[in-house]
Amino acid sequence: MTDATTLYIDGEWVAASNGATRSIVCPADGQETSVVSEATREDAERAIAAARRAFDSGVWSSVPAPERGAFLLRVAARLRDRKDEFARAESADTGKRFVESQIDMDDIAACFEYFGRLAGQDAGRIVDANDNAVLSRIAYEPVGVCGMITPWNYPLLQAAWKLAPALAAGCSLVLKPSELTPSTAILMMDVFEQEGLPAGVANLVTGAGPEAGAPLSEHPDVDLVSFTGGLATGRRIAAAAAATVKKVALELGGKNPNVIFADADFDAAVDNALNGAFVHSGQVCSAGARIVVEESIAERFVDELVRRAEQIRLGGPFDPEAETGPLISAAHRDKVHAYVEAGIAEGARVRCGGRFATDDNGEGLGSGIYYLPTIIDQVRRGMSVVVDEAFGPTVTIETFATEDEAVEIANDTHYGLAGAVWTQDAGRAQRVAGRLRHGTIWINDFHPYLPQAEWGGFGQSGVGRELGPTGLAEYQEAKHIYQNTAPAVTGWFADRGAN
Ligand code: NAD
Repeated sequence: MTDATTLYIDGEWVAASNGATRSIVCPADGQETSVVSEATREDAERAIAAARRAFDSGVWSSVPAPERGAFLLRVAARLRDRKDEFARAESADTGKRFVESQIDMDDIAACFEYFGRLAGQDAGRIVDANDNAVLSRIAYEPVGVCGMITPWNYPLLQAAWKLAPALAAGCSLVLKPSELTPSTAILMMDVFEQEGLPAGVANLVTGAGPEAGAPLSEHPDVDLVSFTGGLATGRRIAAAAAATVKKVALELGGKNPNVIFADADFDAAVDNALNGAFVHSGQVCSAGARIVVEESIAERFVDELVRRAEQIRLGGPFDPEAETGPLISAAHRDKVHAYVEAGIAEGARVRCGGRFATDDNGEGLGSGIYYLPTIIDQVRRGMSVVVDEAFGPTVTIETFATEDEAVEIANDTHYGLAGAVWTQDAGRAQRVAGRLRHGTIWINDFHPYLPQAEWGGFGQSGVGRELGPTGLAEYQEAKHIYQNTAPAVTGWFADRGAN
């Protein structure tokens, strides 16, 4: 395999049909990390045809589920063996700290292990038809050919949340990773091939959304499209999928509230608020981008948060001093900055950050694409900084006086992905968690997730769930099989003899 044959179609590594390539660049230093094939629509359609043939042939879909599970467990083992190679590739593409990429690889292996174990566990359900002559059961069958479109922030993790359950269920697939971060998806196909996945079951097209990705939401031979990415793209994909009534799974953005009551463990709340907002420079769908803090501690809390945020060390993936890294691209940094400027124009105040971190400012970050951790207060509900996802290292401060007001502010978003509540009052913690309209609620923590627990959004954060048993069910169709063991004439229509 050379750098320019990164499409994996029907078990072959091939170049784009028009020979086009794309240079992948590390945002931490602007260095080219690899050159990959830039798939055309025609390439995507060939990949869909291969996935369709593989599915219809039964080469994977009719393999017994426990054997599919065993394959996933072997994949997990290979991922653990090759963890550092995968983590290096992920960090080179994203600029993310190497240690974070290593954690991601452990999580990805755990995801394959979870679905590997789950694969053979549910043989369906016997239904009582209230008639002794009838055998009635529900079988869970693979949904078919799946299109998977994934983002750049957690490139392989987001793909794994789709690949593992889809393969466990017996589906075939075409994966289209972000055009900015394709390297670990390429490595993943190599693992599938090494572990003996039949040709055509998993296919990969690297390239841009409108060319390589759009056919996955449009083509009649795709049964389900699963997308993780931004809200605007998600709306486009859902609209395109409607024409062929595909199943659609959407994991979109968030504007996630981190609610802090005055009785919270102050140091833990400050520390986790920093993690929530600034890990991976805020390029996290579940980032705690809105701090909602009780009035009585707000001043002290924000002063401490600012003091700590100003100390955060930025740097490249292999800089042992770095605590967080660059933004994915110059265009994305411009977007983050425009978002901050819009807030200022509406009357918000920047308490720290609010600008590029560059060599000109003495930060010693070379040609990397960095933005300083930014805290914004004096905001009002409805302002764009409070409503829109920045997907960068920015956090806004809102305050509340009562529990009801905290809940109302935290739910005042068209998103609904995740949220946290900090309090030492167990009753209040459960009350507030129950009232928050978000798919994941952390109490006295921020960010952890479990492969065995569903992940997904309320509101416009998405449709469907990944992970957990529901994450497998997304890739299955429930079929009712009804057998009458004593067939009889119904007599519904009278037999009136020969015409
Ligand atoms: P994006 O929407 O720009 O791109 C996501 C993917 O869609 C990429 O692979 C892109 O090439 C593809 N794409 C773009 N246009 C397309 C089209 N017309 N047809 C088909 N595919 C198309 O998102 P991004 O900037 O890569 O990622 C950031 C977003 O992802 C944020 O909004 C973030 O919140 C969200 N996200 C959500 C979750 C979650 O679990 N809910 C996880 C990670 C990221």
